[in-house]
Amino acid sequence: MQTRPLVLITGASRGIGAATARLAAAQGWDVAINYARDEAAAEAVADAVRAAGRRALTLCADVAHEGQVRAMFATLDRRLQEDGTRLAGLVNNAGVVDVAARVDEMSGARLQRMFAVNVFGTMLCAREAVRRMSTQHGGSGGSIVNLSSVAARLGAPGQYVDYAAAKGAVDVFTLGLAREVAAEGVRVNAVRPGVIDTEIHASGGQPERAQRLAPSLPMLRPGRADEVAQAIVWLLSDAASYTSGAVLDVGGAR
Ligand code: NAP
Repeated sequence: MQTRPLVLITGASRGIGAATARLAAAQGWDVAINYARDEAAAEAVADAVRAAGRRALTLCADVAHEGQVRAMFATLDRRLQEDGTRLAGLVNNAGVVDVAARVDEMSGARLQRMFAVNVFGTMLCAREAVRRMSTQHGGSGGSIVNLSSVAARLGAPGQYVDYAAAKGAVDVFTLGLAREVAAEGVRVNAVRPGVIDTEIHASGGQPERAQRLAPSLPMLRPGRADEVAQAIVWLLSDAASYTSGAVLDVGGAR
């Protein structure tokens, strides 16, 4: 049976994840749309994927919870078997910031959540994907793209050093995993967005952040979610067949 490629995108109900889902569908991918809370938004993204002629499913799971990640992949396994589809891509996009604070003001709970979602969520989903994609596990290979941040280079002092540190961990995880599975048909890369105009800034208590920073950005404007999606979908694709272990800045020269 001819199998069709599917990409699972975490945190795809809005922002960069939703833009990636739409672009991936336009380029021939079936798409599994993970979200944490906003089912209606995830379903709207699924409708857009279907309108592009591809299959879509939505999967609710908090990527920070191992049990929910396992359950999400088990559901995906069942659907893939029914549909003659194979998991060929994973985009670890789900991510969180927090309100601006100095390190000496940060609670332990904040630090735990920052790493639970941004780092452990990425690692748990990557683990499940490798178990399905790696030729060592009987898979047919695949591509994993992790969302890092330019903050990993800048450190984000006075804003969210915890977030920057978590994204730094994502960069190193990307390098290590890429080398670990390179001979097993799995490529692993990261994209480091700069300031992108999405709702993540509102979730950090600064809804106007992207526009406020615009005059200080090298291109004098924030990036758009669809501009980051272009890099992600390229890394997913066979056009990037010899690109692995790369960390690609999409930061408008920031
Ligand atoms: P966003 O607009 O805030 O969207 C975040 C998405 O992640 C939503 O779909 C949300 O789903 C989901 N999500 C949050 N926590 C989750 C969890 N625990 N489990 C599963 N899903 C979860 O963010 P964005 O700006 O598109 O950012 C996407 C990625 O790019 C993140 O990793 C972020 O760190 C990175 N990034 C963004 C920027 C930027 O300026 N925007 C810059 C650098 C890096 P629900 O709505 O259902 O909760």
